[in-house]
Amino acid sequence: MSSAYEIIDHKYDAVVVGAGGAGLRATFGMAIAGLKTACITKVFPTRSHTVAAQGGISAALGNMAEDHWEWHMYDTVKGADWLGDQDAIEYMCREAVPAIVELEHYGVPFSRTEEGKIYQRPFGGHMRNFGEAPVQRACAAADRTGHAILHTLYQQSLRHNAEFFVEYIALDMIMGEDGTCEGVVAWNMDDGTIHVFRGNMVVMATGGSGRSYFSCTSAHTCTGDGNAMVARAGLPLQDQEFIQFHPTGIYGSGCLVTEGARGEGGYLSNSEGERFMERYAPTAKDLASRDVVSRSMTVEIREGRGIGANGDHIHLHLEHLGAETLGERLPGITESARIFAGVDCTKEPIPVLPTVHYNMGGIPTNFRTEALRPTKENPDAVVPGLMAIGECASASVHGANRLGTNSLLDLVVFGRAAAIRARELINPGDTLRPFRKGSTDQALERFDRIRHAKGGTKTSEVRLEMQRTMQSNAAVFRTSEVLTEGCEKIDAVWKQMDDVSVTDKSLIWNSDLVETLELENLMISAKTTLYSAEARHESRGAHSHEDYSDRDDKEWMKHTLAWIDEKGKVDLDYRPVHEYTLTDEVEYIEPRARVY
Ligand SMILES: Cc1cc2nc3c(=O)[nH]c(=O)nc-3n(C[C@H](O)[C@H](O)[C@H](O)COP(=O)(O)OP(=O)(O)OC[C@H]3O[C@@H](n4cnc5c(N)ncnc54)[C@H](O)[C@@H]3O)c2cc1C
Repeated sequence: MSSAYEIIDHKYDAVVVGAGGAGLRATFGMAIAGLKTACITKVFPTRSHTVAAQGGISAALGNMAEDHWEWHMYDTVKGADWLGDQDAIEYMCREAVPAIVELEHYGVPFSRTEEGKIYQRPFGGHMRNFGEAPVQRACAAADRTGHAILHTLYQQSLRHNAEFFVEYIALDMIMGEDGTCEGVVAWNMDDGTIHVFRGNMVVMATGGSGRSYFSCTSAHTCTGDGNAMVARAGLPLQDQEFIQFHPTGIYGSGCLVTEGARGEGGYLSNSEGERFMERYAPTAKDLASRDVVSRSMTVEIREGRGIGANGDHIHLHLEHLGAETLGERLPGITESARIFAGVDCTKEPIPVLPTVHYNMGGIPTNFRTEALRPTKENPDAVVPGLMAIGECASASVHGANRLGTNSLLDLVVFGRAAAIRARELINPGDTLRPFRKGSTDQALERFDRIRHAKGGTKTSEVRLEMQRTMQSNAAVFRTSEVLTEGCEKIDAVWKQMDDVSVTDKSLIWNSDLVETLELENLMISAKTTLYSAEARHESRGAHSHEDYSDRDDKEWMKHTLAWIDEKGKVDLDYRPVHEYTLTDEVEYIEPRARVY
């Protein structure tokens, strides 16, 4: 079967899949370390979803007022509702400060204060002195921070001679018989050739899977491909039930309005004109963490205080900030409000609704970014040859709920950590394992099966069913009944995949085939999310279970692990949360009630 394709072999020290912020930071870090590095990406690097990040990247620089990385660590642990691994959180918050200085030296054009320092704005859940009052910690380049960072990282990658394979879709990993990752198989959409990239280290940096939902802020390319490749290799995904809803997606389109808008002084109101967040979070108010704000908005709508003819959304007010501030600090938002809501936000409020935004879960890793294959004896056992970074990974620094601006930080800190660790584990020019005949068969058979799918159902129809199921059965509030129904519905959608049809058989720019490959990947995210959520009988962070409305640290302070087999059967198990820090400089932060 494999002979049906023209196959081109490549040998590298390291192979990075993905060219978003995480992938690029790892790619040039490895290139600088002397490793021959390939970066494979299905879209042009600067079109990765990182480009859309708006509000900022966090680090306790203290440019605007006193701040400390220990405060940042506390906020992150609390934001994560104690499901984060505190060794990894310590690493990220401590490394944040040098990471931002490094970004500045690489050339990121941050906004400036009058004295010329990096401008920082407040963001949800970032507080001074262990929860006292909001602090200005988000380093921003206006409201286009991701754009500024991604372009700078791409320029650095080119400067350091990394090799790019652009518009190549990675299909599956190649796994050795002993469970070592040996490379990936990819399809070049431009000429239809199949490429086998072998390397001593493979790094997944494929981003999130927001597109399993009907309404999300993420790009159409966020289809969880890396997670699915890892799952197909028989490895588990972690904490898939924790999906972040961003409070302010523009009503109708889902286009994001950054939390930085509330950081600059914006606020939410209900149909009675009330600033209701003061009731739910007396200290942080509109800058409480995202899960808290999204739930509060949903309660307002449910209790009949929503806005509009159907009472189904909320207002975000920026008009009091004035056209000048909006023009300087939030130019992109002003434009999005006009285009996507038809609203002049210098004069009137923007209609908004909680919208799917971020995957806290993903491929489990340690703080060194090595992917895990947890066993009962060793819940932290690593998969040789495999790393994961960025939104597809679960380190776990975000636990049950990510704080705004901590993802861009995660990308650069762990992208860099991957390069450091890779250089410790492998040397430039180390011999590769001998090529095993048949090692790519499974990947190619799957590709071939999908390419020749002859059923009667369109890919778009199955996708819509999946997205509707996720939207209604894995939402902001969940119950056992709704989740059980969700599991049944998603099983039925999974069966529909057998009847999918790919009409175009071409190997060149075949969007029908691309979308079907992506749909199979999304289905893995969707199923593991629903099954993991159904099993978690507590409320923690973004997982708000109305039948079990309290956090249960005795039973549930553990990471969910979900394995899924070819037929779609999901198996769950759990691994302990790391209840220790990395160094003695900080102590483990004991769980306590989470109020803002
Ligand atoms: C609208 C929006 C605004 C945001 N704002 C902020 C913010 O202000 N601050 C913050 O901290 N976070 C923010 N976030 C979150 C943050 O931007 C993302 O979590 C982060 O950018 C993800 O980066 P990444 O490198 O993991 O993946 P991405 O940037 O999504 O890149 C994924 C890469 O993987 C490649 N890829 C995927 N599948 C394959 C495949 N099969 N084969 C080959 N290549 C593949 C893609 O081509 C792409 O290069 C925002 C997110 C959104 C959606």
